[in-house]
Amino acid sequence: MLKAHSHSDRFHDKGTYPCPVCRHGEISSMLLMETFACNFCQHIFTTNFDKQVLKMADSQLPLSWYWNGKNWKGIQREGAELGWGYLIAGLIFVLFPTGIIGIGAYLFPPLPDSPLSWLPLVWLILTFFSHLFCLVWLVIEYYQFPIFLYIRAIKRRLFASDY
Ligand SMILES: [Zn+2]
Repeated sequence: MLKAHSHSDRFHDKGTYPCPVCRHGEISSMLLMETFACNFCQHIFTTNFDKQVLKMADSQLPLSWYWNGKNWKGIQREGAELGWGYLIAGLIFVLFPTGIIGIGAYLFPPLPDSPLSWLPLVWLILTFFSHLFCLVWLVIEYYQFPIFLYIRAIKRRLFASDY
C-alpha cells in the first residue's frame, strides 16, 4: 500500500482503510462528514470510532464490519445471515431440475443413432448452468458485490497502456 497509514492502528477519521465491500478500493472520510466513502465502488459508510465499527449506509442490508487494527471483520447481522437453510435451498434449486432431467435421460435414453441423441445431455448441462447462474446472481445482488466495477477495472488494466 502506497499511502502511509497513521501512527495509530485504530480506526479514526483521518485514516485510509481498505474497502470491506470490493476489497479493491480505499475508504476515507468525506468532507465535513462522519461518513466514509470508497474510491472504487463508491459505497458510502457510516462510522462509529468508539466501537471501531463501519456500517454500509447506502444499502438496505445492515452490513457492518469491525476494525481489528489490520483488517475488517464482518459482524454477524441478526436474522439476515445466509445460513445452512439457504445453502441447502440453493443446492436443491440447482440440483433438483438437473436431477429430474438426468433421471429422465437415464430411464428413457434416446436411440444412439437418432439425430437428436445429443439433446438430453446438452439440455442437462444447460439446465445446470442456467440455474447455477441464477443462484450466483442472487448472491451477488444480496451482497451488493460491485461485479461490474471489477470487470471495468480488469478491462482498464488489460486495454489501457497508460494505467
Ligand atoms: Zn469499495
